[in-house]
Amino acid sequence: HAKENGRSHFEFFDKPLERMAHFQLELENKLRAAIKKHELSVYYQPQVDIREFKVRRVEALLRWFPEDGKPVPPSDFIPVAERAHLIGKIGYWVLEQACLQVKEWQSVGIENIRVAVNLSAQQFVGKKLVEDVKELIKKYGIEGRLLEFEITESILLEDLENVKEVLLELRKMDITVAIDDFGTGYSSLKYLQKLPIDSLKIDRSFIRELAENPNNKSIVNTIISLGHNLNLSVVAEGVEDKKMVAFLCERQCDFIQGYYFYKPMPVEEVTKILAQES
Ligand code: C2E
Ligand code: MG
Ligand code: MG
Ligand code: MG
Repeated sequence: HAKENGRSHFEFFDKPLERMAHFQLELENKLRAAIKKHELSVYYQPQVDIREFKVRRVEALLRWFPEDGKPVPPSDFIPVAERAHLIGKIGYWVLEQACLQVKEWQSVGIENIRVAVNLSAQQFVGKKLVEDVKELIKKYGIEGRLLEFEITESILLEDLENVKEVLLELRKMDITVAIDDFGTGYSSLKYLQKLPIDSLKIDRSFIRELAENPNNKSIVNTIISLGHNLNLSVVAEGVEDKKMVAFLCERQCDFIQGYYFYKPMPVEEVTKILAQES
């Protein structure tokens, strides 16, 4: 109504909470339209294997480039998609893009690149995820071992037994699972004991100021040891400079993901990098 009157929204939504709710609803509607207009795309960020200094894995990251405006970061629209129950549909689309990419890369001789896909807790409700993945793997004729799912510790808020069942089903398909943003969640190690997990991704907040902050050094050290003692591979996220790389190499972290090596990039660009290496 505000627009019809040619006046600012803020005159009508003068309480901060109302204003927030209005902003959310507007973003939700824009997101629905964006899906229809195919404004969403997937970028890929390489993860470098420290021992060989080679790209072995990439993470699929959603991007939203509106036709008429600035890019909207996933940290803004994913929570909206979750609240509006659009994340199932969007998440399925990302997963299908990942499967398609694995197949395309294989068809041009780029083998053994594992694609990691982020999952929201909502996608764990019921058995839909397992059915979807089974179907997509079959449709594209790809190997499950070339897919990884990244889940966050917020998954602990879901029914742990169901999560466990889903993860065991995924493991039967050779799909691997990483805990994303490790250390920032519900500070319980219970799921490491209970769930079939393959990797830990050290959150960016611990990698930041790694050289300057002795606490961060200890935390990163401890996560690497914990991961290795549990037979998990450890990925460091948000690695932006040489000092961080040196520290992580010395501590035998397994993979490095960060702007120091590569930013998230469109599929054409990442394909060039993978082709050069293979
Ligand atoms: P995430 O899964 O932890 O992804 C890593 C984020 O760190 C990405 O942000 C990436 O661009 C950023 N990053 C990587 N290296 C560096 C670095 O060296 N410096 C800095 N400053 N940042 C770095 P992005 O792409 O904005 O994604 C934010 C979050 O949105 C993701 O965090 C993930 O939680 C969520 N997300 C992205 N795509 C999807 C998706 O398809 N599904 C779901 N459910 N969530 C997604
Ligand atoms: Mg992730
Ligand atoms: Mg992360
Ligand atoms: Mg995150």
